[in-house]
Amino acid sequence: MIRIALFCLKVGVVVALAFWLAERPGDVSVEWLGYRMDTTVGVLLLAVAVVAGLAALAYRFWRFLYRSPRDLGRRVQTGRRRRGYKALTQGMVAVAAGEPDEAARWSRKADALLDEPPLTMLLSAQAAQLNGDEAAAKRYFNAMLENPETRFLGLRGLLNQALRAGDQTAALEYVRQAHGMRPRTPWVLTSLFDLSERHGDLDTAERALRDATRIKALPAPEATRHRAVLLLERAMAARAAEDPGAVKQAHEARRLAPDLAAAGIFEAELLIAAGKGRKAARVLEETWAQAPHPDMVRLYLQALPADDDLGRLKRLGKLTAGRTEHPESHLALARAALDAKLWGEARRHLIVAAGPEGLDGAPSESVCRLMAALEEAEHDNMAAARVWLDRAATAAADPGWVCRICGAVAEAWSARCGACEAFDGLRWQQPPRVVPAVIGSKTEIAGELAPPVTTTGANLPAIQNDA
Ligand SMILES: [Zn+2]
Repeated sequence: MIRIALFCLKVGVVVALAFWLAERPGDVSVEWLGYRMDTTVGVLLLAVAVVAGLAALAYRFWRFLYRSPRDLGRRVQTGRRRRGYKALTQGMVAVAAGEPDEAARWSRKADALLDEPPLTMLLSAQAAQLNGDEAAAKRYFNAMLENPETRFLGLRGLLNQALRAGDQTAALEYVRQAHGMRPRTPWVLTSLFDLSERHGDLDTAERALRDATRIKALPAPEATRHRAVLLLERAMAARAAEDPGAVKQAHEARRLAPDLAAAGIFEAELLIAAGKGRKAARVLEETWAQAPHPDMVRLYLQALPADDDLGRLKRLGKLTAGRTEHPESHLALARAALDAKLWGEARRHLIVAAGPEGLDGAPSESVCRLMAALEEAEHDNMAAARVWLDRAATAAADPGWVCRICGAVAEAWSARCGACEAFDGLRWQQPPRVVPAVIGSKTEIAGELAPPVTTTGANLPAIQNDA
């Protein structure tokens, strides 16, 4: 309202001024190219004002014509970018939702609309991977290496590809490059640890593990356990190289993970070999209290030899003192009592080792075999022994080094599962009941309790069972 009033006021002032000018006295004569024009000063000034106004209008029109293509181009470009980013978003959503065709379609659209390869290359690579085109994905990842902004992401893509293809050497090379770029990224450190350890580069693995622990890339208990396993692996490598540092590393491994039975066994083996029987016995007693293992029985009697069977039974009473309730303790004492011909004591231990329901329940394979030996030795009862041996064949298997990831059973401990290569996969426990195995074209059930998959422990030095 105020603007309209102001406009009317302006028009009024101009019109009044024009009339006032036109009525001013004074004449002007112009002679030009044989023409003569007589008028008043007021009319001339009015004419000049009108011409100037028209010129200003013409200039504005020319400016509009000159600028409009540029403005139009800018508007078109903004629209393209907006549609490009939308396509990029839709593509990422399709990748996350696992829709290969949608992902490929949006990736092509984003690529055509956006002139920013760093943004679209990752989407193109992921869409290619989702479509199963690993070669195309690799091309995109390699192209990403050329650009400093996308190099790190490209390395990660190539690393994952190499890991899936089982190319450990290439994977290690990619992770080393990634580590050079960002040495504090959690996945870089955990991958560097894993791949260096696989490659036998235990120094780098240890450094990576330390850095990963420092930035909390691993939960503290897991990091400590990893360190212990790595130290035990180093100790085993050191013994193979006749390096006297092995015993110190094994000791440190046991200190970090007292329930790592393999560490106690290995340290005791080294101490016995060095003639330090008493020290070895102490290590075995401490480890038995945490994680009893049948190999410790043999080593304990090597560390502290006894003159007769009764003496050995007494020795084992000391070894098992830290875990008297454990089935392994009862089994060790039952065997020793059997050797010492203490039938009653052997039977008592076997009944406890059989579990809460005793011998009528589900005694393990070892308990059944020892019961067979007892029936034969004590009463010379071959029929009863035969019954126990039959029960042993279908009884729950004795504990072994079982991979907690894939369930494979190894003959000896190693840092990695020989079947699935999981680091620190092996635990001393009862093997899982195995599902029917597929042999040839037909499915066969290999007995009620098929023997578990057995793998010899990887490429790493293993504990010798007969040492
Ligand atoms: Zn495994």
